[in-house]
Amino acid sequence: MDAADRERVLAQIRGVVGDRHAFADPYEMRLYQYDASPETALPDIVVIPGTAKEVAQVVKICADGGVPITARSGASSLAGGTVPVEGGVVITFARMDRILEIDIDNLRAVVQPGVVNLSLSQALKPHGYYYVPDPSSQGACTIGGNVATNAGGPHTLLYGVTVNHVTGLEVALTSGELVQVGGRNAAEAVGYDLTGVLVGSEGTMGVVTRIWVKIQPLPPVQKTLMAVYPDVATASNAVSATRSTPARSCCSKSMARQRLPRNSACAWRKSAARTVRPRCGSLAMRPNARRSGKAARERSRPWVAFRPTST
Ligand SMILES: Cc1cc2nc3c(=O)[nH]c(=O)nc-3n(C[C@H](O)[C@H](O)[C@H](O)COP(=O)(O)OP(=O)(O)OC[C@H]3O[C@@H](n4cnc5c(N)ncnc54)[C@H](O)[C@@H]3O)c2cc1C
Repeated sequence: MDAADRERVLAQIRGVVGDRHAFADPYEMRLYQYDASPETALPDIVVIPGTAKEVAQVVKICADGGVPITARSGASSLAGGTVPVEGGVVITFARMDRILEIDIDNLRAVVQPGVVNLSLSQALKPHGYYYVPDPSSQGACTIGGNVATNAGGPHTLLYGVTVNHVTGLEVALTSGELVQVGGRNAAEAVGYDLTGVLVGSEGTMGVVTRIWVKIQPLPPVQKTLMAVYPDVATASNAVSATRSTPARSCCSKSMARQRLPRNSACAWRKSAARTVRPRCGSLAMRPNARRSGKAARERSRPWVAFRPTST
């Protein structure tokens, strides 16, 4: 955008969100040029709307003026999704970070896109519930970003990815309209699964302003096991095998040897090509790595280590 266009669009956007929440200072733009990918590109304008209606108005201003829009939530994208490669306006959701409703009776929560993933589960914990999708970045990424990327995590193995836990969306379109697809009782909705189409679309079809999600009771107790395998194929087969046992793994994380910590408690590190950490049903367990690592080195075959801990 040239300077005149930038000033004109900035004035229009400030008319919607106020002077404080839209800016174009070159120094401040640098804070919004990157995410967790190696890519960088400077935006022309950054806007921090406070309501869905403001988002819709900003989107319309940009669409009418042919200005590129990039949505940005937690900016933990590893794929450069929030990097404004063509400049234009970055819309960020730092002010739209409220949990709007927790509906235990219907196993639903309603959130704004800027709610950090982990904070929803933390808010649900006192009620005995949690939000299942758990990307490893869950302390930083937001549910808006998770919807846009259809994020997964260790719980994916048993419970599916974000699309399996979102029942409805409110979305701002380039026409300036706010539309709702699905909702609390999406299972009763007829017609196309537009929520399913929008989840994973990375903001290319609209900007998400409100999200209806499923919530789930916390398991009463859990067990975490750590298994170390000599090669990737054996580890993969073991994960598949757990799926047919009664103690089904609800969560699994695997690590290559190169990623394991180099400390004395990890003596087994040298013998491991791959570790798998499944979490199943009942009691919380923690690995006794030192003792079992010795056995693993001696036998050079898969082993499982655990020690009971309180939940
Ligand atoms: C250490 C680390 C670990 C990670 N682990 C995982 C993992 O286990 N599983 C996984 O799936 N990913 C993982 N990721 C990638 C990333 O965290 C996820 O893609 C996450 O869903 C992005 O959320 P965010 O809030 O940071 O979104 P952002 O990075 O801000 O945005 C991501 C994309 O969504 C779009 N977007 C953001 N908000 C909206 C909105 N309101 N409306 C429309 N579009 C929007 C953006 O334009 C962009 O294209 C990891 C990243 C890091 C850095």
